[in-house]
Amino acid sequence: MSEPNELEILEKEILPQARRALTGSGEVDLSVLIPAYNEVGSLAELVHRLQDILQRLTSSWEILVVDDGSDDGTAELLAELASSIEQLHYVSFRRNYGKSAALSVGFEKARGSVIITMDADLQDDPDEIPRMLARLAEGWDLVSGWKQQRKDPFIKTSTSKIFNFVTSRMSGLHLHDFNCGFKAYRREAARSLRIYGELHRYLPVMAHVQGYRVTEIPVRHHPRRHGVTKFGRERFLNGVFDLLTILFLSRRRHSPLHFFGRVGFAFGTVGFLISLYFLVIWIGGAGLHMRPLMLLGIAFILVAMQFFSLGLLAELLVSSSHGNENYQIRIED
Ligand code: UDP
Ligand code: MG
Repeated sequence: MSEPNELEILEKEILPQARRALTGSGEVDLSVLIPAYNEVGSLAELVHRLQDILQRLTSSWEILVVDDGSDDGTAELLAELASSIEQLHYVSFRRNYGKSAALSVGFEKARGSVIITMDADLQDDPDEIPRMLARLAEGWDLVSGWKQQRKDPFIKTSTSKIFNFVTSRMSGLHLHDFNCGFKAYRREAARSLRIYGELHRYLPVMAHVQGYRVTEIPVRHHPRRHGVTKFGRERFLNGVFDLLTILFLSRRRHSPLHFFGRVGFAFGTVGFLISLYFLVIWIGGAGLHMRPLMLLGIAFILVAMQFFSLGLLAELLVSSSHGNENYQIRIED
């Protein structure tokens, strides 16, 4: 933000456009939600930089830090900061529950019409907020950051690339960077998300399958200067399972038998045809003796029955949780 030219564009074009995003049903215009686990080295600077930029956007904002059970003095620092900054609020967990838990509680407590999430470690640049809001104002419900030039170790960036490719293919939502912590949400979109486990990686997918409009913009990314990363590459396989969960829960939630039934039907048909073949040659007078194909036919029929009963069982679960459906309404008059 050193060139005067850039500053001028910010003042004249980006800020006015960004302010147009700040309407809605929240008690304040804008919340910035920050999950923080042992980030004592970065938080003070982050909060001060946020103050600068938020004040230029609106007079009605808040910063909400969720301290995820830190033991490095993060909570004490937050208490001190909150005593001098009226708009700063924080929640401190009794123990470390994980980033998903921190975001989930944060979304519940944040009061903004627009909610920005960002990491506490200064890797996300607060100066990008106006551009994200400007994009939101174009009619999107979720604007996700894309760390186009990522400042992380090689192993992390490369596994992340595979993860993003797979997620994009399987979900039909074409983003480059699903797991960026830096995002802007319209209030309804943020509050529609049911986050548990480690599902924070899939928030854009969840919003997308619920019918919210999701897009991304490139954001600057900085190397970590204080503290250490909390995520390693061992999460990769878990990530794949989580994606399956999301896609299954979102698409098949209301009619599991439609899914399990189809699989069962496919197995059943093949099994039936194989058995029919043996029946026909038996009627034709050929003596029967056990053959590998016969075993396969029987196995397929058993597998088919398994799938049908699984589907019926799942239907039972769905029907007993009736009334908790999560339909997202866009306009109500
Ligand atoms: N974080 C958290 N709880 C955890 C792990 C991480 O609240 O159990 C926060 C962390 O303080 C940071 C953000 O989540 O603000 C992203 O974590 P990190 O920077 O370690 O991830 P990376 O950028 O290396 O992927
Ligand atoms: Mg980080």
